[in-house]
Amino acid sequence: TTPRTTPLTAELRDAASAALGRLGVTLPLVEPVETTPGISTSSTLEVVSPLSGEAITTLPEAGATDVDAAVAAAAEAFRAWRSVPGPARGAVVKRLGELLVEHKADLAELVTIEAGKITSEALGEVQEMIDVCDLAVGLSRTLGGRTMPSERPGHRLMEQWHPLGVVGVISAFNFPVAVWSWNTAIALVCGDTVVWKPSEKTPLSALASNALLRRALTEAGHPAAVSTVVVGGREAGEALVADRRVALLSATGSERMGQQVAPVVAARGGRYLLELGGNNAAVVAPSADLDLAVRGIVFAAAGTAGQRCTSLRRLIVHSSVVDDVVARLERAYAGLPVGDPRADGTLVGPLTDAGARERMAAALDEARADGGTVVVGGDAVAVDGAPGAAYVSPAVVRMPAQTGVVRRETFAPVLYVMAYDTLDEAIALHNDVPQGLSSAIFTLDGREAEVFLSEAGSDCGIVNVNIGTSGAEIGGAFGGEKSTGGGRESGSDSWKQYMRRVTNTVNYSTDLPLAQGVNFG
Ligand code: NAD
Repeated sequence: TTPRTTPLTAELRDAASAALGRLGVTLPLVEPVETTPGISTSSTLEVVSPLSGEAITTLPEAGATDVDAAVAAAAEAFRAWRSVPGPARGAVVKRLGELLVEHKADLAELVTIEAGKITSEALGEVQEMIDVCDLAVGLSRTLGGRTMPSERPGHRLMEQWHPLGVVGVISAFNFPVAVWSWNTAIALVCGDTVVWKPSEKTPLSALASNALLRRALTEAGHPAAVSTVVVGGREAGEALVADRRVALLSATGSERMGQQVAPVVAARGGRYLLELGGNNAAVVAPSADLDLAVRGIVFAAAGTAGQRCTSLRRLIVHSSVVDDVVARLERAYAGLPVGDPRADGTLVGPLTDAGARERMAAALDEARADGGTVVVGGDAVAVDGAPGAAYVSPAVVRMPAQTGVVRRETFAPVLYVMAYDTLDEAIALHNDVPQGLSSAIFTLDGREAEVFLSEAGSDCGIVNVNIGTSGAEIGGAFGGEKSTGGGRESGSDSWKQYMRRVTNTVNYSTDLPLAQGVNFG
């Protein structure tokens, strides 16, 4: 039982423990110890911080039985929750938003410790939770159906939207809390209950978020089981996916995960909402404001250490400006501060783990073998006191063509730059990848911008002009096409996926005319 962690890990454990305490989660975080060979550890989850690359603690890991119990409780809670008036459900979400405002810094600190985000981005993630609560509170008084003219006299045709049931949420490590809130704030006002299987890499942020919601629920006299978190890995995820009582399975993660999940949910007749990987590109046209473009590109490509689903991974630049753009990016990248995400001034935190850094290095090797040139970055960065962490310098790579490695999502800060001559060529390159999440064009030419936004332009779910690919607001529907999964979350009419539509025909006449003029006896 020898302690095996660095002083930094001990500091992170203390900080996480204190933040959890302030968030109302009493969970003793104990130092992991060397396990005895031969004793199974399969029911224990190591919580590793990417800041040090070491386990800060261990937690019991939920398996299929725990998921079964959580779904049973959520199904039971649904029977009461579905009949709570929408605005009263909204009041619970409003209270969650207030608690998030109160505990913004505490929750952001856990996000930084578990996901490695710089403080400003971690605070931004919690702000996004607050914003979606506001949106959902508004929805709680406006969710509604339409009435349509009936072809029959004395008849009324209308639709209602009813609560759907239990919503299963599976989330990725890189948005450890916001993705849950996009789903949960909306699902709750829609009258659904939620079982959440967060990423196995970010369980503490998840437990803290759910503790705030459970506080809001119990304060208002509702069952806590309206929202449950199951801390586990793939086994727990698979159990949630397969459970017939889960009416909607909303899963965020890699394309691989989506391909495994979708057939299972489809086979049991469930609904799924998938938010999977992106391979996002920006076109830089000859007329672009290059100062603005470079600022937008650097945030989108290097921000969050390239670990957003909307991170910019491909840059398609007109041949007349490509050398200038690459030179500007080289200068900007050379000055990017990489290091402890809690430190003032740091803009690039760590990759999630050593495996991610190895995949980045392998992608750069493949790009070189394909004729690419690494213009800047791509190196491991040593950070004092954190020998086990996976820090890197963000890379820009000139590519002669859109080869295999460019067409895959490597979840790291690698920006491939390719040149184009005509807008048609740029759009063809842009769309010639399996994924379809986010896209952008930098241009001051109104016609070019409109073509890119049109049906003949970008094939993505998110298409921007003179702004990067990442950093969406919650008012719009969020999601992408093709192998990104087709789901839409958050704003606009995304709420419809969390409800079931019922069509009603009401006859208030004394006759019984049949539709389409059918005669029957
Ligand atoms: P991941 O696919 O490894 O894991 C995501 C979640 O799925 C985890 O909770 C994991 O336990 C679970 N999971 C994995 N396999 C499963 C299975 N067979 N059945 C059930 N659950 C399973 O992804 P990650 O590394 O955590 O996150 C990075 C990926 O997520 C990137 O590809 C990124 O683009 C994507 N992402 C997409 C969005 C979006 O909105 N489109 C948002 C964030 C992240």
